[in-house]
Amino acid sequence: MSGADGEDIFTDVFWRGPEDASRVLVISSGTHGAEGFCGSAVQSQLVASQVGLPDDVAIMLVHAVNPFGFSHLRRVNEENVDLNRNFIDFDSALPVNAAYRELNELLNPIEMPPEKLDVSMAEIMRLQSTMDFLTFFKAVSGGQHEFPEGVQFGGREPQWSRKTMEGIWDTYLSAAEIVVQIDVHTGLGPSGVGVLMMAANPDEPQKAITANWFGDMMVSSRPARKQDNAFGGYMNAGMEQCLTRTWVIPMTLEYGTEPPEVVLRAMIEDNWLCHHGELDSDHGRSIKERLLRVFYPDSKVWESQVLVRAEQVFAQALAGLAELSVASKERT
Ligand SMILES: [Zn+2]
Repeated sequence: MSGADGEDIFTDVFWRGPEDASRVLVISSGTHGAEGFCGSAVQSQLVASQVGLPDDVAIMLVHAVNPFGFSHLRRVNEENVDLNRNFIDFDSALPVNAAYRELNELLNPIEMPPEKLDVSMAEIMRLQSTMDFLTFFKAVSGGQHEFPEGVQFGGREPQWSRKTMEGIWDTYLSAAEIVVQIDVHTGLGPSGVGVLMMAANPDEPQKAITANWFGDMMVSSRPARKQDNAFGGYMNAGMEQCLTRTWVIPMTLEYGTEPPEVVLRAMIEDNWLCHHGELDSDHGRSIKERLLRVFYPDSKVWESQVLVRAEQVFAQALAGLAELSVASKERT
């Protein structure tokens, strides 16, 4: 596996603070490769900032969870797998995404002259108006394990990056008492706004604790049954399952870029290009440029908003961790 220029590629780990810190703030980037420019920038800013660490607190950065996608400008990895749909239990039957199946021909066309994409997008938007929000979101974003060349393919086995991440967590974090994990993404939400997201039930202590640290967040309840899980396979869920003796507080920091239909359109084009198009062509290069810009806008204002928000969130997380102990889990 090598990068777009044939170079070696890596997932890197950076650590600052005591090796045996009981509390660790983890920030990961590039789980969706092409979103890694933003994640890399906020990590670099943190490294350069020399921010002071509270006692017994460390920072761990994981740079480029999906180095192949980052280098090749793909959201998915070398197997066309969305890593954030790959952290499922592969010993059980694979989840079925019936809603995706209905849309596969629109999302994953074999022929795609530009006018066909306009027609497909109009049809997708029409279908959206007939579905409730969650059904549509699951169809286009929920992960599927049936069509290896489709969008949102979650894979049929644990991917290299998943195994690498599990190894990193096991090596560096298994002795920590508390881990706050922030996985940095782009492409969803209002432009330049960094929204913190978390899956937690109302009775889980981290819901009230993080609301206190960060203020407004988007918290969704965990699915009551496995089959209710619209978006299974998240890396954050994998971390919770891996670090069984650690109190893991997993969050996503998602920065908006473009409207959802623009992002979806760029993903459909890029997926088609990978399987059926010609990368080294004007059409191929224009698709890659659009994909880059829906995840990394060419805007100094956007970049500045991203960095300011990251600085705020990481400072809030460190201040919160300074006061947090395992005992507070029981008290809440
Ligand atoms: Zn993402």
